[in-house]
Amino acid sequence: NFPLLPSTNPRISTRVLSLLPLNPKSYQSPKPHHHSLSHTFNSLNSLSPYVLPQFRPILLGWLCSLVSVYSLSRIVPKVGNFSAILGDFNGVGRIRGEGLVLGLLVLARLGGCYLQQAFLWDAALRAVCDVRVRVFERVLERDMGFFECGGGGVSAGDIAYRITAEASDVADTVYALLNTIVPSTLQLSAMVAQMLAISPVLSLISAMVIPCMALVVAYLGDELRKISKNAHLTVAALSAYLNEILPAIFFVKANNAERCENARFQRLARADLSEHLKKKKMKAFIPQIIQIMYFGALFLFCAGSLAISRGSFDGRAMISFVTSLVFLIEPIQGIGKAYNEWKQGEPAIERLFDLIRFKPKAIDKPDAVDLNHVTGEVQFCDILFKYGENMPLVLNGLTLQIKAGETVALVGPSGGGKTTLAKLLIRLYDPLSGHILVDNCNIQSIRLESLRRHVGLVSQDITLFSGTVAENIGYRDLMKEIDMERVEDAARTANADEFIRNLPKGYETNIGPRGLILSGGQKQRLAIARALYQKSSILILDEATSALDSRSELLVRQAVERLMANHTVLVIAHRLETVLMAHRVFLLENGKLQELSRSTLLNNHYESLVSTGLVI
Ligand code: ADP
Ligand code: MG
Repeated sequence: NFPLLPSTNPRISTRVLSLLPLNPKSYQSPKPHHHSLSHTFNSLNSLSPYVLPQFRPILLGWLCSLVSVYSLSRIVPKVGNFSAILGDFNGVGRIRGEGLVLGLLVLARLGGCYLQQAFLWDAALRAVCDVRVRVFERVLERDMGFFECGGGGVSAGDIAYRITAEASDVADTVYALLNTIVPSTLQLSAMVAQMLAISPVLSLISAMVIPCMALVVAYLGDELRKISKNAHLTVAALSAYLNEILPAIFFVKANNAERCENARFQRLARADLSEHLKKKKMKAFIPQIIQIMYFGALFLFCAGSLAISRGSFDGRAMISFVTSLVFLIEPIQGIGKAYNEWKQGEPAIERLFDLIRFKPKAIDKPDAVDLNHVTGEVQFCDILFKYGENMPLVLNGLTLQIKAGETVALVGPSGGGKTTLAKLLIRLYDPLSGHILVDNCNIQSIRLESLRRHVGLVSQDITLFSGTVAENIGYRDLMKEIDMERVEDAARTANADEFIRNLPKGYETNIGPRGLILSGGQKQRLAIARALYQKSSILILDEATSALDSRSELLVRQAVERLMANHTVLVIAHRLETVLMAHRVFLLENGKLQELSRSTLLNNHYESLVSTGLVI
C-alpha cells in the first residue's frame, strides 16, 4: 500500500518531488497581460477560419431555431387562452381544435430544438476536427528544438493533451457560441416582444434586473478564464507525466520506484484537484446569479395576482406574461452558459492555437533542387555546431570527405558528437557554420524531402511502431502501396527474413507498441531492413551493432558487408570487427576528426584504444 499523501512519507525527499513542474504558473508563457476583450477578439479571430467554412450546417441550425422560436411564440399566448377555456365547460368543443394546433406547435418546437442542436454540433465538431488536423500538421513541421523540453520546448504529453482534451473543450465553446448568436438571441427577443405586448410596465420592471446581473456575470467570467487556464495547465502536466512514465514502466519496477512515482503522481493529481475545484465552484456560482430571475418571476406573479384581484389586470394575460418570462429565462441562461463556456474555453483556444501560430521556417529555399540520382559522395566542410545558445560546441571545425561507395567508420567517446554528425547530414539541425555537400551539392539547397530520400538512417534508439512487420519495414510507403518484394529483399539483406518467417503470422505479425514482441537484435535488424527498403545510396548506421550479442552482431555485420557493395556507408560503431570492415576509420574527439590507420587499430595496446570508445 502506498502512502496516501507524500508528506506522510518523509523519506520521499522533497528533492524528488521538486523535479516535477508543480507550479502551473511555471508553464505560462510570459505574455503581457491583455484586457479580457482582446482575449475574446483573438480567440474569435483564431477560430473564424475554421468555423466559417461550416456555414451550411450553421445556417440550417439557425433556420431550425427560427422554426422552434416561432412555434414557441405561437404557443405562449395560447397557454393563457387555454387556461381560460379549461375553466369553462362549454368550451370543450373548442378545446379539440385548439388542442390539435397546440400539439402540432409543440411538435414543431421540439423537432426544431433537436435539429438546431444536431446541426450546430455538426458544425462545431467539424470545425474542431479541422483545427486538430491543422495543429498536428503544424506540430510535425516544427524543428527539433520545439520538442526538446530542456530548451523550452513543449513536451509530447502536453501536445497530446492539447490536441485531444483541449480541442474537445474548444468544440463545446464553439457550439455554445453558435447557439448564442442566433437561437438564444432569437428566443430572447421573441419573448421580450411578447411581454412588451402584454404589459410594458411589468416588462420594464423585469428588465431592470438584467444589467445588474450582466455586470456580475461579466466580472465572474473573467475570473473563470484565469482559473480555467490554470486547470488546463495542471491536466497538461498530468498528461505529460503519464506520457513519460507509462512507456517506461519496466524501468520503474526495476528500480523499486513505484512508491516514488506514485507520490510524484499524487502531487500532480492534487495540484490538478485544487485548480479544478476552484473552476467548478466558480462555474456553479454563475448560474445561481441567473436563477435570481426565477424568483423575480415569482415576485411578478404575486404582484400580478394583486392586480388581477383589483380587476386592473386580465388573468389570461398574466398567465401568458409569466409563461413568456419563464421561456425568457431559458435563453438568458443559455447566454450565461455560453459566456461561461467561452471564458473557460479561451485558454484552451489560446493554447491550441499557440501550436498553429508560428511562421514555419521555409526549410526549402525557393530554388532548392530535387536530386534524382545520387552517387553518394558526402563532404563535411569545417562544421561548427552546438545545440543552443549557451551550449558547448559539439562539432568544432570538423571536416570529412567520403567517396561514393566508400564505407567510413566513426569511433569515439560517448557524447563526442557522432550521432550529431548523422543528424546534421539529414538536416534535423543545420550547422552554425561550414557546409555539407552531397554529390557536390550543398544540402541546404537540396529539397529536404529529396535529401532524406537519398539518406537512410538506422538511428541509435530504434523506433518501431505498433503495426505489422511489413508496415514497419515499408514505413516510407505507408501512404502508398507497400512493395512486398522490396520488403522481403530488404529483410533478407538485413538478415531478418528468417526470424520474421518464424513469427506467428510472418510479415503480417503485429509487433506491438514500440516493437514490444521483438528482441533487441531483432529490432535492430528490422530497423536496418527499413533503411534498406527505401533504396537510398547513402546509409548511416548509428551504433547498429553495439547493443547486440555476438551472434546477432555477426548477423548484422554480414548484413552491413552486403550493403557496403552498393551504398556509401557511414557506420558509427564500437566493435573492432565492425570498424575493421570499413575502408577508413575516424576518431571523433573534441569536435574534430582524426584518421586511425589500420595498423594503429590492430597493433595498439588496449589502453591506447580506450579513448576511442572501441570495444575489443
Ligand atoms: P555520441 O553519439 O557521440 O555519443 P551525441 O552526438 O549524441 O554523442 O551528443 C553529443 C553532445 O551533444 C553530447 O554532449 C550531448 O549531451 C549533446 N546533445 C545531444 N543531443 C542534444 C540535444 N538535443 N540538445 C542538447 N544537447 C544535446
Ligand atoms: Mg550516439
